[in-house]
Amino acid sequence: MIVLDFSCLKCGHDKYQVKTTFCAEKTPGFKLELGTYYLKICMNCGYTEMYSAKVLDKDEELKPEY
Ligand SMILES: [Zn+2]
Repeated sequence: MIVLDFSCLKCGHDKYQVKTTFCAEKTPGFKLELGTYYLKICMNCGYTEMYSAKVLDKDEELKPEY
């Protein structure tokens, strides 16, 4: 799921930590949905990259409208 050959954009360090976080997302129709995001945190300088799990895992984004 996560690209493995990571090197920090800021300092070039290759050790990182991955965390998962959830953010509320507004969808059309004023429903709130929890979106999943991966955070890749550089263990050297703390620089954080954020990835949308939706895109990364190629989840089906189109859900039927209730
Ligand atoms: Zn770094």
